[in-house]
Order: sequence, then structure tokens, then C-alpha cells
Amino acid sequence: MPGLPAQGDNLDTMRQRNLSKVLGFVHRGSRVPRSELTRAIGLNRSTVGDLVGELVDLRLVVETVPNDHHRVGRPSWIVSPHPGVVALAVNPEVEGVTVGVVGFDGVVRRRMRRETTRAPRPEEVVAMVIAMIDELRPELATYLRTVGIGVALPGLVRESDGAIPLASHFGWVDVPLGKMLADATGLSVHVANNARLGADAERLFGAGRGASDLIFLNGGPSGIGAGVIAGGIPLTGTSGYAGEFGHTLVNNAGDRCQCGAFGCLETEVNQSSLFGVLGLPPATEIDDLDRALTLSESSAVAAEVERQLGFLAIVLRNAVNVLNPELIVLGGFLGALFAAAPERLVFLVAERALGASVEQVEIVRSELGANLLMVGAAELAFASLIDDPAGVTSPF
Ligand SMILES: [Zn+2]
Repeated sequence: MPGLPAQGDNLDTMRQRNLSKVLGFVHRGSRVPRSELTRAIGLNRSTVGDLVGELVDLRLVVETVPNDHHRVGRPSWIVSPHPGVVALAVNPEVEGVTVGVVGFDGVVRRRMRRETTRAPRPEEVVAMVIAMIDELRPELATYLRTVGIGVALPGLVRESDGAIPLASHFGWVDVPLGKMLADATGLSVHVANNARLGADAERLFGAGRGASDLIFLNGGPSGIGAGVIAGGIPLTGTSGYAGEFGHTLVNNAGDRCQCGAFGCLETEVNQSSLFGVLGLPPATEIDDLDRALTLSESSAVAAEVERQLGFLAIVLRNAVNVLNPELIVLGGFLGALFAAAPERLVFLVAERALGASVEQVEIVRSELGANLLMVGAAELAFASLIDDPAGVTSPF
């Protein structure tokens, strides 16, 4: 009959959807007893068994008998992501480019970084990524498959084609980064805003596990980005640009921001002022920032921490009142700033936000630390695999 798919197509679509459901659940859960999987997927035991069998054949999951099985009766097999499946994660920053190999279980296997003396141009980022992939090639050859590249970029990203309309800290306008990397590597490439990916990573594998209304703010060398999960769904806006808390007004008398406006959050709250007052070099790692903040007895450092927390609290108050989140996760240097005086930030937000909303919100530090954006970027590549488990191949 014209206009209607054949019944075989319908069955194929349903099977693909079910495979996708099972694979997504195993990916997020890491080690899932088959009985739990059956309950969660809502299909009967033998159907779930068939689906798991097909995913085992596709070498996307493995099944093992639990070690601690002492009881009489049939053990529930444990289903885990296949350790041979990895994705490449790329995070271009203004002072360097990081490439990582991330397992399908969300564990970062390898992280590699090249520093730059200034913000790299797009062609330079592509060349650095190619060089690092070449160096990783022997290691990648030991895995069954590399499913693709996910890129976490501090800037505005059009996710449909990986183009960058604007990355102000790099001075990039209208850069087809996704296409450039795909042409150069032969791998499928997905690009998204770094903070949006950080939010996903924290929700799947970090401090935000189980949270459905979450705001994640990430502070990096390129300023402050944010990701919002509302009702369990990432808030993207019409083009994927939503969540730019870094460019919301906190100081009417503030300095001009890279975005052209005045008094944005990131003109007041930034790691360069923090590094400056602590006497740290620009490429300092967050662990060293933590240590320096803990050890400092300087009143100038205390005053700078207090000043930055005050401006951060303005944005968090607005976020709490507008979005009514259950959890706010602070990553990057914002995590270090928070850890320097956690009660103070909680007090400043609670003092100013609407009582009913602020009572339900918890502020925590990101758990994934230096691996955050690697895990988040890899999720982009794994999302395609989970969408179509039988369709993704690897050139490695
Ligand atoms: Zn701005």
C-alpha cells in the first residue's frame, strides 16, 4: 500500500528502538543485572534476553556471572558496556587542545594535551587533533571500535552540523569545525557547547546522577558556560545556544565583555583575576588552584574570593528563581571558588532568592573534575551509537 511502510520495516524499527533502549540503559548503568534490565525496559524476559544477545553479537555489551554469587538458584547475569568500544573526545581551549579516549562505560582511558601560547585558529585545532590521533593510533588499534569524535567547545555551537557561529574567546566567526574535523579524520564528528556537555556528564556519571532539574555552571579559561536540564531534558533553546549565564548582567557599572555588553558575570567572575591575586601562572590546573586557595592567608585573596562569590550569587539567585532547580553543580574554577567558602555562597544565594525555591536547591561541586569535558564530549559520539546500535562502524 503506498505511503505505508512494509510490516518488516515496522518490526525493524521497533527492534532498533528496543536495542537502543537496552544499550542506553547498560551504558548509563555500567553494570546492570539482567533482571533489573528486564524491569526497567518493560519487556518480557526472553525478549530482553534476545536483545542482549544481539548486542553481545554486535560486541557492544558483555555478559558476566557476578563474582559474589553464592546463593542457590540461577544467578542474574550482569550486562556491561563492552570494554573494546571507545570514542574520541576533543576539547579546544584558548590555551591548549585536549584529546581523550573514553570507554563506553564512561571511564576516561587516556587524556592528552597540547598547550598553545594564544587562542588557536580552527586549522591549528584540526592539525593538533590529527597529530594527537596519530600518536594514539597504536592504542586505538587495541580497541574493537572507535565510534566517532565528540567535541566540547566553549562557544556558540549549531549542533545540527557542528558549525560555530561565534566563539568570541577564540575570535572565530562562522567556522564549520565539525565538517573540517570529519573531512580530516574520516570519523563522524559531533560538536556541542562545552558546558552543555558538562551538564550531561555530571548528570549521567557525576554529582547530578538521578537529578532531573539541574543547572551546571562551568568556569574555564574561556569564561563561564552553563547547561540546564529541565524536567530531565536538556534545555537547548531554538538553535542550541541556551544557558549563557556567563553573559547575564551582574554589574551595571562593570567592564566591557568579549560579547560586547557591559558587566556580564564572566567580566567579574573569572579565573584570571583569581590566578592573578594568588600569583599563579595562566595554565594552572584546578587541583593547584584548590591547593593555593586552601593555603592562602592573604587578605587580598580572601577579598577577591568574597567579591567573586557575591557576583556568582546574583546569577545563582536569578537561576533559582527562574528555573527552580533541585541541584546546582559548579565545575572548573567555579568549583574551586565554591570549595574555598561553601557556606558563604550558600548563604548569599539563600539570603536573596525566593524562599520556597531556595529551600529545595542544593549547591555542589562537580565530581568529574579534569575528566568532565572528556566524558561529556564522548557522550555525543556514544549517543549516535545508542540511537542505532547496528549502524555505526569504525575505520580503526
Ligand atoms: Zn558578555
